[in-house]
Amino acid sequence: STTPQQIDPKIQARIEKHPCYSEDAHHHYARMHVAVAPACNIQCNFCNRKYDCANESRPGVVSELLTPEEAAHKALVIAGKIPQMTVLGIAGPGDPLANPKQTFRTFELVADKAPDIKLCLSTNGLMLPDHVQKIKELNVDHVTMTINMVDPKVGTKIYPWVRYNRKRWKGEEASQILHERQMEGIQALQEADVLCKVNSVMIPGINDEHLVEVDEVIRSKGAFLHNIMPLISAPEHGTYFGLTGQRGPKPKELKALQDSCSGNMKMMRHCRQCRADAVGLLGEDRSQEFTKEKFLEMTPEYDL
Ligand code: SF4
Ligand code: SF4
Repeated sequence: STTPQQIDPKIQARIEKHPCYSEDAHHHYARMHVAVAPACNIQCNFCNRKYDCANESRPGVVSELLTPEEAAHKALVIAGKIPQMTVLGIAGPGDPLANPKQTFRTFELVADKAPDIKLCLSTNGLMLPDHVQKIKELNVDHVTMTINMVDPKVGTKIYPWVRYNRKRWKGEEASQILHERQMEGIQALQEADVLCKVNSVMIPGINDEHLVEVDEVIRSKGAFLHNIMPLISAPEHGTYFGLTGQRGPKPKELKALQDSCSGNMKMMRHCRQCRADAVGLLGEDRSQEFTKEKFLEMTPEYDL
């Protein structure tokens, strides 16, 4: 039987070799991100768009954009050089599902040559309902969706606009659309039996108290893990789009919030907010060993 603090054993078995999901596995298994997805379809107040998506990655980092062919080449080079490599993720630098052609092409190329590598992607969820079928077909292991609110009123302080159906939506309407699409997406993943992890960015004074409710909602909809990450707000990351002077949470505040949610579900506490081109074990960053200039000179494990 499971205590409320534990993950369902059936799910546990599915995530055993995933460095991000098991505090044990992250010492033994490695992951790589490839940056193939430049565009985004929403605006977050805490994103200045010059850097990697702050919903999944550490903001203030610029990853080198690759084509799907280059990304697959890189993934297969790395799979040959780092034997513990088990997971390939697409997490930016924008929203992977705002760039579906690049994202899915990359997965197809890699899955074809190295079917043992698990695939994952992250998204703000806006376009998720349209792609669950494809995600399932490609055998994508899990999806990480960033959900920062379940109340569009709170959303108005986080999202100034959303681009959907060829129109730019603003105000509460924008957050209403995003919210509905996120809920539809989480449901569709559940029905397709694709694992769904939820990321939330804790923004003091904006959604910090509200995240307890977010935690309840996403758990009831079937998310298996909730990862509450701190807003990283540092001058060197530049001015945020709409939250000038916004501070990030203190470690104490983050821990208190994580504790108040963890009675309901296992909390992820070791996420490193990796770059969109991260490579290696979770504690290490070997991305500089595999810059475009370098990996293009290396021979992949399998011919593309
Ligand atoms: Fe920036 Fe990511 Fe938000 Fe898009 S989803 S605006 S890339 S933080
Ligand atoms: Fe894992 Fe978090 Fe890094 Fe993604 S950002 S690879 S979930 S540790």
